[in-house]
Amino acid sequence: MSTFVKYIVNEYNRIKFSENLSRIKDAGFDGVFISSTKSMSLPDSANWRSDFLPISRMIDLACEKGLKTGVILVCFHSPSLWKQDSFSPPVGFSGAAYVPDDWYHPICPNNPIGLEYFYRLIDKMARISAPDYFYLEYLRFPFFWEKEELDVQNRVPPFCYCPFCVTEFSSVVGEIITSPQQIIEMMPEWLQWRSTTIFNAIIDAKLTLGKNSKLIISLPPLTLIDLPFTTGQLPLAITDEGCFVSPYLHHKQKKKNLMWVEDLLDQYRLDMKIRKILPCFEASTRKELDKYISWARENVFPGVIFHEWSKLRDNL
Ligand SMILES: [Zn+2]
Repeated sequence: MSTFVKYIVNEYNRIKFSENLSRIKDAGFDGVFISSTKSMSLPDSANWRSDFLPISRMIDLACEKGLKTGVILVCFHSPSLWKQDSFSPPVGFSGAAYVPDDWYHPICPNNPIGLEYFYRLIDKMARISAPDYFYLEYLRFPFFWEKEELDVQNRVPPFCYCPFCVTEFSSVVGEIITSPQQIIEMMPEWLQWRSTTIFNAIIDAKLTLGKNSKLIISLPPLTLIDLPFTTGQLPLAITDEGCFVSPYLHHKQKKKNLMWVEDLLDQYRLDMKIRKILPCFEASTRKELDKYISWARENVFPGVIFHEWSKLRDNL
């Protein structure tokens, strides 16, 4: 079993980065997952191209240290895109535009600007030194799981109901949709269509990036049964395509304990091949790290990912 740690970098500094890689290696990790874009966008920057880090150099450095590599791709979230004049925000079922009240800036997967961003991102990443893994983040649109709880009473899926989505859906079902209320009558078709939208994005990423690297799709901490309705993600179809899934099990962020982590993973284990799951744990001490590693070893996961190096490094 391989152990990985995420290392989110905001500014690239070769010496600092190299020192941290050595410490990651010394701490016993087999590999590092690095961000392809800066964790915070520049103030007033509407140019998302300026968000990119020199990722090829960073991968080469990690390889030189004898570390396996993963690159985190932020797919449908970008504060920089929100600053562009031509950008239009996602729209909720009630018709109200999404208003970010925190760091999360979701992008509709059918918004042309969002799609352009996604395809440029994967095309750009196809040209870098191939890492062992690409880690696709923020496909969970628009579920802000870090702050929100799943509303099980909600009968309308929290997807986007913007004009791009409604127009696209109209053309798929061959009927003119003028209001989100009409969608309620076509719920099975709507759910299938939105899942297909997300699934096709994953397939395209696999075709573009999957030749020399394996793909991991991150999932919010939800049970398998809740994922398609809430996020449009289909974990079983994703693994059938040869991708891995990585459920986020950030127990501290969610104010939960290890039991919560075990329960969620048990449900994955029942329905899914264990060799396809790389859980992402939250650890900030050596004790927590070791506890999760020995527990994951017993469960024969192919690997585990820890969030996040900056929080861990001074406690090891
Ligand atoms: Zn939309």
